[in-house]
Amino acid sequence: MKKRLAYIVLISSLWLSTGHADESPPQFALSPLPYEKNALEPYISETTLSFHYGKHHQGYVDTLNKLIDEKGLKGSLEEIIMKSSRNPELKTVFNNAAQDWNHTFYWSSMKPGGGGNPTGPLLDLITKTFGSYDDFKKEFIETGTKLFGSGWVWLVKDKDNSLKIIGTNNADLPLIHGQKPLLVCDIWEHAYYLDYQNRRKDYVEVFLDHLVNWDFASQNL
Ligand code: MN
Repeated sequence: MKKRLAYIVLISSLWLSTGHADESPPQFALSPLPYEKNALEPYISETTLSFHYGKHHQGYVDTLNKLIDEKGLKGSLEEIIMKSSRNPELKTVFNNAAQDWNHTFYWSSMKPGGGGNPTGPLLDLITKTFGSYDDFKKEFIETGTKLFGSGWVWLVKDKDNSLKIIGTNNADLPLIHGQKPLLVCDIWEHAYYLDYQNRRKDYVEVFLDHLVNWDFASQNL
């Protein structure tokens, strides 16, 4: 009997020492990258993507899990974003939840061999809204270049169903403004600095010419 008790104590202490003490699994997992880390070369290097996905995005997910665990928050990522966006005391929760959402959306906004003109109904809408694809491109690049500080450039469908290009600061996202995002470009420096340094304009241009995933944007329409 004593032997058996000692065995149970040993097994439980091993279990605790491997970090299983009172821990439920994290609520959110890092979403898989839809391509290999070198798949966007030469436009975005494997080094940039390794840091951006493996360190920055992973970091937002880890911090989010820690914060919602501490605060006892539950719900889908979208629910947590909406809830925390209206509560200044949950600002750090909002920042990390929104950054998780934004990055997952950004990875899907690009694909190897992407870029160029959209087709079908999306091209029709872009032409109707901006005059031509080139006019759209000009405004998108200008919004990305002029946005002060860190943020995101989005193509969104607004409440009245019109298309708009908007720049958001930090973790801000269309979801909380009642707009439907179609695609996004990350213009935080960590997204491009290793490859383009201060040439943000070149990076946004390359995003449209060689990376943007119009199939994804069309599906979101
Ligand atoms: Mn980023």
